[in-house]
Amino acid sequence: MAGLCAAVRARELGLDTVIYEKGERVGGSMLLSSCVVWRYRDLATFRELCPGGDEELQREVIERLDDGLAWLRGLGVDVVWEETGNPLTVGLRFDPRSLTHALASAVGEIRLGEAAPQDAEPLLLASGGFQGDRKLVRQVVHPDGELLLRANPWSAGDGLRLAVARGAGVSSGMDEFYGRAMPAPPAAVPEERFVSLAQLYGRHALVLDERGDEFAPDPVSWSETDLVQAIAQRPNASAWYLVDEDALDVEIRGRSVGEMVEAAREAGGEVLLPNELGIEVPGTYRYAVHVIAGITHTVGGVRIDLQARVLREDGTPIHGLYAAGADAGGIATGGYASGLASALVFGRIAAETAALA
Ligand SMILES: Cc1cc2nc3c(=O)[nH]c(=O)nc-3n(C[C@H](O)[C@H](O)[C@H](O)COP(=O)(O)OP(=O)(O)OC[C@H]3O[C@@H](n4cnc5c(N)ncnc54)[C@H](O)[C@@H]3O)c2cc1C
Repeated sequence: MAGLCAAVRARELGLDTVIYEKGERVGGSMLLSSCVVWRYRDLATFRELCPGGDEELQREVIERLDDGLAWLRGLGVDVVWEETGNPLTVGLRFDPRSLTHALASAVGEIRLGEAAPQDAEPLLLASGGFQGDRKLVRQVVHPDGELLLRANPWSAGDGLRLAVARGAGVSSGMDEFYGRAMPAPPAAVPEERFVSLAQLYGRHALVLDERGDEFAPDPVSWSETDLVQAIAQRPNASAWYLVDEDALDVEIRGRSVGEMVEAAREAGGEVLLPNELGIEVPGTYRYAVHVIAGITHTVGGVRIDLQARVLREDGTPIHGLYAAGADAGGIATGGYASGLASALVFGRIAAETAALA
């Protein structure tokens, strides 16, 4: 998302661009996403719900997103929802194929299957975070088991490594990630089902780890990101969601809890009766659903300033090096914010900064 937005904006400003896309297709995780591009209603809400994030970067997202959304509309992208349906947020839901197509048609050269050259200048790092590098995730996020990768497979920390090698500092929140609880193995979770298989009802469930110990943030946040991060710290990065009969009819983002449970079962996930668990269950529940923490993108990353310039530890910018999207960290630390929104905002800003340099 960030790289495509930057390239389109850069061309509007008269620059030549080349997109190096390591994967076999364009669109990265954006193409797999629900494609709701949103911001919190105001900075105070952003601060409250992502308290560890950089306030100035958050302000920039609040102030610049609406322009970015209008710009995407102007490129002819199909809008699916005119609002997010969440009173805390404003934004649009786009069709991810239409968004990818509109952006990819407006950029110049795209070199598929090629990683960006290390020494290009100016260079925008937009490799999408480091969730695809299992070893790095183990070292930095330190989950208590292998997380399920709920993202494109190519975002494996190349931007972060390149920036750090050139002396960049890193942001807050390096051990945080955004993700969803997903049906645990042996469930089959192909990328086209990353959205439909999400188990987004932890706050309506009793959450036990595999030893039978109850755990969960209290209360669980609206996005459930905190719960998913807590699951990651439990044995096998897994949990059981126990749901009672009443919860099955609860609607969340257009789907009932019962439908989400059914989707897990159909995918081959473990959906058991509580007495089949082999652990003591307090209370009466209809189903026990085995879930695993799925990682969508990392929250921490390269440190940037308001011009999307990569910063050294001492706060000085590194000449000709920019970062945006999930490569640029510390915007949503302590909570969850739209990754597509920051990719759009800072991707466009990077192009504008480069055009003035
Ligand atoms: C199932 C799912 C649902 C989601 N739903 C939402 C949502 O509704 N709203 C929201 O805001 N966010 C959502 N997200 C998150 C959103 O997709 C990401 O935050 C966003 O795509 C990040 O943008 P990006 O440009 O950093 O990364 P990406 O869009 O992933 O793009 C990064 C690109 O860099 C490429 N790349 C990696 N390494 C290299 C290299 N060395 N050289 C060249 N290319 C490289 C990758 O192949 C990829 O194409 C969702 C994600 C998923 C997977």
